[in-house]
Formats: sequence, C-alpha cells, structure tokens
Amino acid sequence: MIRRSTNRRPESDELSTEMSPLSPGLYVHVPFCTVRCSYCDFHVAGYRAAIAERYVDALLVEADLVAESGLSPRTIFIGGGTPSALPVGAWGRMLEGLSSRFGGGSLTEWTVEANPGTIDEEKARIALAAGVNRVSTGAQTFDPQGLKVLGREHGPEVVEGAHALLRDAGFRRLSLDLIIGWPGQTVRSVETDLAQVARIDPDHISLYHLSYEKGTALERRRELGRVTPLGDDAVIAIARRALGGLRSAGYTRYEVSNLCRPRQESLHNLNYWQRGTYRGIGSGAASFDGVRRFKNRPDVGAYLRAEGRPEQVEVEEIGAQTALEELLFLSLRLSVGLDLSEFRERAGVALADVCRSSLAELLGERLVELGPSHLRATERGFEVLDAVILRLWEDCQRIARIRECR
Ligand code: SF4
Repeated sequence: MIRRSTNRRPESDELSTEMSPLSPGLYVHVPFCTVRCSYCDFHVAGYRAAIAERYVDALLVEADLVAESGLSPRTIFIGGGTPSALPVGAWGRMLEGLSSRFGGGSLTEWTVEANPGTIDEEKARIALAAGVNRVSTGAQTFDPQGLKVLGREHGPEVVEGAHALLRDAGFRRLSLDLIIGWPGQTVRSVETDLAQVARIDPDHISLYHLSYEKGTALERRRELGRVTPLGDDAVIAIARRALGGLRSAGYTRYEVSNLCRPRQESLHNLNYWQRGTYRGIGSGAASFDGVRRFKNRPDVGAYLRAEGRPEQVEVEEIGAQTALEELLFLSLRLSVGLDLSEFRERAGVALADVCRSSLAELLGERLVELGPSHLRATERGFEVLDAVILRLWEDCQRIARIRECR
C-alpha cells in the first residue's frame, strides 16, 4: 500500500508553475580566474588582459550568430570562471554587446557572477545600465581557515563590502554561494557563516557540499594525507545546522542546494532543472535545443582561433530513455518534485506501477513523499538524494527491458 502525503505544496511549486515557460535561457561562459580555487574543476583559464579582450571579440561574434538564429532568451546567466575579473573595458563591451543583441523582448532575468574581490562601483554601474538585474557572488565561507583551505583569494570582510556596493548601485536581487563540509569545518563555524548571511541579507543562497574532484589541488592534498575530509556524520550535522539557520532566517529550500526568499528563485537555473531549452556561448558552454545536447570545445585557444564559430563537441541526441532519466534526476532535485503525469506521459506507464517495490521502500523509510500530483524527496531524502534516485531509476530501466522484450 502506497501512502499519500497531504502536505501543502511548497511555494516554489506555485512560482515555477506560474513563471513557466522559462525557456529559452542563454548561458555565457567567461573562463578566466586570477587564481584557481583548490576545489575547482571547472573549465577555467589563467587571466591575461590581452586574451580577455580577444575572447570578448569572439564571444560577440558568436552572440551575433545566435541572435541571427532568432534566439530571444527569457533569462541570461553569465558565469565562469570569474566574469567580474574582466578589465572594465572588456566587461562593458561584453555587457553592452549582449544587451544590444538580447535585451528587451522576453528577457526577465539577467544574472552575472562576480567574485567579491573583483567587482567595483564602475563595473556595477555598467552592469545595471546594460540590464543586468541579479548578481551572484561566491563567498563560500566567512571562516578564515575555510577560505584558506578552499584557496579563495578574498578575506571574510570583502563579501559584505561587495554586497553593500552592489545594493548602493541599485541591485535588488543578490545571491550568495556557500560551501559546507570543508576540512576542519565545525558547527560553530557554520554559526559564523549564518551570522554574516544575516548581516548581508541576500535574497538567494546556494549551499553546496564540498566534493573532492579528480585533478584538483584539494584532491591531491587529500591523497597525500595533508587534508582529512570530514566524516559523513559531521557533514550531515553541519548541513542540518546551516539549513535550519537559513530556514529560521526566512529562506525556503526550493532545490537540493538552493534556498531563497519568497519568489526569488533563480529562474535561469529552474529552466535547467525543468529540462527547458538553453543556448550556451563561449568556450566550453553547453546547449540543449530540446533534442540535442552539445558543448563548445572547452579550449580558450581553440575558441579564439574559431573566431566565434566554435567546434561543437559531445553532441548527444536525447532519446526517450535519456529524457526519462533526466526527468527523474532533475525533477527530484526540486522541492516540488517529479510531476507524475509527465512521467506517465513519457514512460507510457505510471511510476507507481514500474517502481512499485522501490517506491514502497522509500516511502517506508520516509525518504520520499507522494502527493496527488508529485513525488518529492523529504528533507531526509535530500541528504541521500543520489541513492534515492538511483533506486527509482534501477526500477525505471525495466521499462526499456520490457519494451525490448515485446
Ligand atoms: S572562482 Fe570559481 S571558477 Fe574560478 S577557480 Fe574559483 S571556483 Fe573555479
């Protein structure tokens, strides 16, 4: 017997339904950083002013081609790398160039990522004038020991100053990234982070768990025994304290790693999680047109040589099975969860029929809740989300096997 929850649907459900469709999005990749953080495995290149200028030239040529194809984005997200590391001239050319090609129309949200140490009043003024209406900054932590182990360039006091500067410039929508679970972190250090968040008062928080990625400086230090990762119990205690503190401060979790004040979700990222279409420009930027996923080759030198016509790599046609897998994996990241009628439409069979045993177990363990229209992870389920989804997906894969047998 499968129990159904009578819980009220969360606010994020109301917003995501109301705001949809959120497609298409436009992602712009700026791959330069002045220093590489110890945990970072993103596509990043060392910053050099002359290369940054040429990069913006190529970016605007690619933007021209995308605009000519008729793309009218509802959201723009400029990420990296560190977009704010661009010198002010290149920063202005990029933002004004994007504004003239994609501003107006159906554009509702335009976010730019900024590192607290590389944003200043002039760059903030230029961004606002171009139409940017949201800035996301990477604080990661306010604990000096944590900043050191994460290899961050800035001190704990710089973030508050950057947010004050952005507010004074006129930005109303500000997001802050935090990382939890770094080596040596304690629940007490989370209290410091929470106190700083309360002072800065952003409307959106991304709360990521540290992961030790292959090839990063942090992973090498772990292999050499120079850093000791926290145990699972310590990480869970830290995560619970951080989430509890943020909830008390008025933030609602709308995605496994993201919380916000009412109606302040990142629409650009919601579009990803809802499997909306998006176009990426810049070295290594990914795109999804509803049928194919592909990437620009992640190589800054090759991007400059291609002069705005980058080679597309990792091109993948999204078949029915992959679409179903993505629906399951992406939807269950959201607090609103998986739309059961959408699953039935794609799979040709109800989730409760194909995942009967895993669903009953997960409900019994209180890792998921089943509402009238959605299946969603509980707070405990979010702590082990990958395992929850895999258990469901193993059952779902039988759909393909059943079809093959017919
Ligand atoms: S600022 Fe961001 S992109 Fe740059 S090295 Fe650090 S984590 Fe990576």
